Amino acid sequence: MKKIALISFALVLLFLSGATPQQNPFFSEFDTPFQVPPFDQIKEEHYLPAFKEGMKQQLQEIEAIVNSPELPTFENTIEALESSGTLLRRVDNVFGVLNGSMTNEKMQAIAKEAAPLQSKHQDDILLNEKLYQRIKSVYNQKDSLKLTGEQSMLLEKYYKDFVRGGANLDQEKKTRLREINKELSILTVKFGENILKENNRFELVTENEEDLAGLPQAVITAAAETAKERGQEGKWVFTLHKPSMIPFLQFSEKRDLREKIFKAYINRGNNNDDLDNKKILSKIAALRSERANLLGYKTHSDFVLELNMAKKPENVYKLLNQLWEPALKRAKKEAQDLQSMIDEEGKDFKLKPWDWWYYAEKLKKAKYELEDEILRPYFKLENVIDGVFTVANRLYGIQFTERTDIPKYHQDVKVFEVKEADGSHIGILYTDYFPRASKRGGAWMNSFRKQSKMGGKNIYPVITNNGNFSKPTGDKPALISTEEVLTLFHEFGHALHGLLTNCTYNRLSGTSVSRDFVELPSQIMENWAFEPKVLKMYAKHYETGEAIPQELIDKLKNASLFNQGFANVEYLAASFLDMDWHTLTEPKEMDVDTFENESLNKIGLIPEIIVRYRSTYFNHIFSGGYSSGYYSYIWAEVLDADAFEAFKETSLFDQQTAQSFRKNILAKGGTEDPMTLYKRFRGAEPKVEPLLKKRGLE
Ligand SMILES: [Zn+2]
Repeated sequence: MKKIALISFALVLLFLSGATPQQNPFFSEFDTPFQVPPFDQIKEEHYLPAFKEGMKQQLQEIEAIVNSPELPTFENTIEALESSGTLLRRVDNVFGVLNGSMTNEKMQAIAKEAAPLQSKHQDDILLNEKLYQRIKSVYNQKDSLKLTGEQSMLLEKYYKDFVRGGANLDQEKKTRLREINKELSILTVKFGENILKENNRFELVTENEEDLAGLPQAVITAAAETAKERGQEGKWVFTLHKPSMIPFLQFSEKRDLREKIFKAYINRGNNNDDLDNKKILSKIAALRSERANLLGYKTHSDFVLELNMAKKPENVYKLLNQLWEPALKRAKKEAQDLQSMIDEEGKDFKLKPWDWWYYAEKLKKAKYELEDEILRPYFKLENVIDGVFTVANRLYGIQFTERTDIPKYHQDVKVFEVKEADGSHIGILYTDYFPRASKRGGAWMNSFRKQSKMGGKNIYPVITNNGNFSKPTGDKPALISTEEVLTLFHEFGHALHGLLTNCTYNRLSGTSVSRDFVELPSQIMENWAFEPKVLKMYAKHYETGEAIPQELIDKLKNASLFNQGFANVEYLAASFLDMDWHTLTEPKEMDVDTFENESLNKIGLIPEIIVRYRSTYFNHIFSGGYSSGYYSYIWAEVLDADAFEAFKETSLFDQQTAQSFRKNILAKGGTEDPMTLYKRFRGAEPKVEPLLKKRGLE
């Protein structure tokens, strides 16, 4: 019955759109310059039929693999699996990018319908016993197969997919694993939903103008608008959403109100009511622990980290401990400075967490006289793009040429062809930097097509960079903030990883690396953004063309170390908490408050600072995909600071260093162990000192 319904639904779609498979652009290779997606021909009704046909084709291809009369070999099993699913990949890539940057209700409905189909498709492959037996057979002969390093890695990845999915378990354990996975998927969604509701539930309402003391006009206006939206016209409403809460904590002179909003924030999911997350998260931690044990791992962290550069929980703890002491020392000093400011004001109280933002803001203004508004005129978007292209050109000799003859999906998008110094083609880069209602928040890199060259067929990458940067206003061009400049350099670094990759297999190319390694190519680019020499190249006043004055460059540098003790302590404490929850050796449900207190007391967190995420609203680890992974941001920063040091030891654009970074890191994707790649570039394992220096934590 269900099958019939599906088929007739597909027929209706075909009928409505009048599209036959021949007219569905996904059903054949794209007939466009550089085979970029033909955006003018792709219609929403093309996606689902292409997804379904793509899955069907891949299952047929897999059937052919498992029914092959030949004995399993690397070619007829692993490479055959790798080359399966071409159509599915084609539609999935385009849909994935556009649902992020050009979505609408129809696209979201397609995403909802496609998600369960895709997860079932995934299961159909991973639970295919015959397929697993063939892969295992190849895996068991791996030492005698004379595989290249990249081939060994590919084999390892496919084999691990199956093993980690429970392929080696007996039937009873398989059943339990499926139960655990199902329960976890429900609990993690529930955890996130509760936080969403908590974020919207609290409001600080006032009709008393005195309660607004200290707040900038823009913040007051926004609070009045929120009140109006919520049917409380004439009053002011503040919420737990960051754009409302953070400025309130930074500027409100009303200490009691700061305390009220702050306490509401840190008690989300912890009010012993219908939105309480304590039971849910302790159950999640216990189930993850049980699953790890079932699969033969000591803890959930061991299970997760096996695939990461860190490899083992001990290595993560080691790094966190190395950073913790100096960060805590600095935070204690910062707390003293803030306390002095309170004392100088003649106030008689001890610094509390809800005072930190307020006094830090005051101290910053007094010390550095630096506001973003003074800098913006020097960061016209086009100039910043010029800057990042110039840096890439000076490092790698590559060139960026705008192309106006290539299809694009929105008028704000620009398309560039990327070429080697000798003019040979590397790939295509789409840039899409302005916000719009159809785009999700934040900034990211994505691929319409990843690079590969299996069977000698060169597939060139088609990469996108997306952002939500300040738009042109009135007669002014887009003048972006320093934060946005860094973000642009960051995402461009991911783009270079996707563009300069030179791998045989799609599965391993470009940014297909572990989470604690993937931020190295992006974060290292940020280092060039504010180097005085680089700033002088691109940061020119949008009206006068005058280069940014030295005085501003100095201020920018000085202010960069402000409040780093707080920022690091807050972040590191959350990383410890994440690790503690996921190194439970037994599937036992814990008392959340006790567990959290013990975890934070153990490291000596000071009472003036609250961990960045308390357990009951730690979405990254209990709802998002960062369990035992919150450390990876700082792990990658150790790498990028140490890697950039190689340029500082020589020169900003040292050719030998740049070539080595390109050859050993950017070109290699996930074809080798990341530490091996790193050591080949740097000659040694990364040291933590450059990061300590960069963050002022020596
Ligand atoms: Zn990133």
